[in-house]
Amino acid sequence: MRRELFILAHRLYDVSFYRLYLDLSANLKKTYEELKEEQDARLSRMIRFAYENVPYYKKLFAGLRLTPEEIRGIEDLNKLPILTKEAIKRDYGAFKPLSLSRMKFYHRATGGSTGAPLKYRASKEHRTRAGVLLYRGWGYGGYELGDKIFFFAGESLGSGSKYGRLTKIHELARNSRFFSVLDMEEESLERYLAVLNKEKPGFIRGYASAINELARWIINRGERVHSLRAVFTTAEKLFPEMRRNIEKAFGSKVFDGYGLDDGGVTAYQCGYENNYHIDTENAVLEVVDEKSLQPVREGRGKVVATSLYNWAMPFIRYDTGDLAEASAKPCPCGRPHPVLTEVIGRYRDILITPEGTRIHGGLFTHIFSGFPQVKEFRVIQKRIDRVEIQVVLENPKDRIRLEVIEKLIKERSPNWKIEFVFKDGIEKTARSKHRFIVNAMN
Ligand SMILES: [Zn+2]
Repeated sequence: MRRELFILAHRLYDVSFYRLYLDLSANLKKTYEELKEEQDARLSRMIRFAYENVPYYKKLFAGLRLTPEEIRGIEDLNKLPILTKEAIKRDYGAFKPLSLSRMKFYHRATGGSTGAPLKYRASKEHRTRAGVLLYRGWGYGGYELGDKIFFFAGESLGSGSKYGRLTKIHELARNSRFFSVLDMEEESLERYLAVLNKEKPGFIRGYASAINELARWIINRGERVHSLRAVFTTAEKLFPEMRRNIEKAFGSKVFDGYGLDDGGVTAYQCGYENNYHIDTENAVLEVVDEKSLQPVREGRGKVVATSLYNWAMPFIRYDTGDLAEASAKPCPCGRPHPVLTEVIGRYRDILITPEGTRIHGGLFTHIFSGFPQVKEFRVIQKRIDRVEIQVVLENPKDRIRLEVIEKLIKERSPNWKIEFVFKDGIEKTARSKHRFIVNAMN
């Protein structure tokens, strides 16, 4: 019954939903070679479309003296340059396809690492596929359509702060509940836990930092909590400490997911080591070396995305601003999709030192994990040589040896001037989510 209602609600949005879900689920039984052949065919089709319909690409191909036929598969993609957000903003009008008025699409925006957000269009077909791939990805953790799932979400994960009748209908049809990550006060945490224990969902999903916060609260209070089947984290870097807390509090495994609506790349953890399987059915995900910009089969690099179904605004070799580690080894789970072993982080989680090195926010999580009296913190890089660290203590009377923290940080960057600011709480906005690393340099 739950499953039927769930499918019906999705079919109202897009009639092809369930058929596509079955097809893409069946893909898990194919070989990588079969998937790649289909992906290459889709890529050729998108390249031809972009060339014929989108002025930016027409001009790009002409400038490179390239024809669409010369891009036959993902190996040929590096004949094309990498597309930056800045280039899209500069030439925005040239990304409008000639046939846009006949298309179904949505207006979207994505945050940049600096400056104003990038506006873009997302085709309905692209969105439906991303949704289906999300459900298939949760399936790696045991989820089936219609299973009860709770969300810890902000605006961008689809809950919204307004809790109206529409939200209620949405929740009922999808057998889900939404909790706002903007509201993680003590009273709210108590209420969330009570609802979890009463309604016993099999799954929860949300920002790693928000679920981690609830997990820490549960552990510190010694609360009893109904065991989940799996926890799905998303949209932020999942640090090992967070995974440990969450698994301990909820007695279930954490499956992290990586996905970007702009560009359409998605990858979901299967539970073997830290492997993420890269979906091949909505986009091409390349990992390219940061310096040479050449694709790497194994190792770290920038994530570059090519959407295969976003007719309303084709992204071809789009620099996502994320970093990941690719692996050429097949996963022991047997799923055919290629593997990332780590999503190292979003550029926005990375700080630059006066010495010119890049430090990932994980360093601070690591340092603060040695200081249990710290409840929350946020690191804000204000200038290349100035970092403000906001600290919220579990108990305002707690003592903390700031000089030790400062010393640990200065081992990595001796020229940073560190300023500590004690706060009662860290304000959360929908835009900053629960970000604890803020690169405020523009
Ligand atoms: Zn696997």
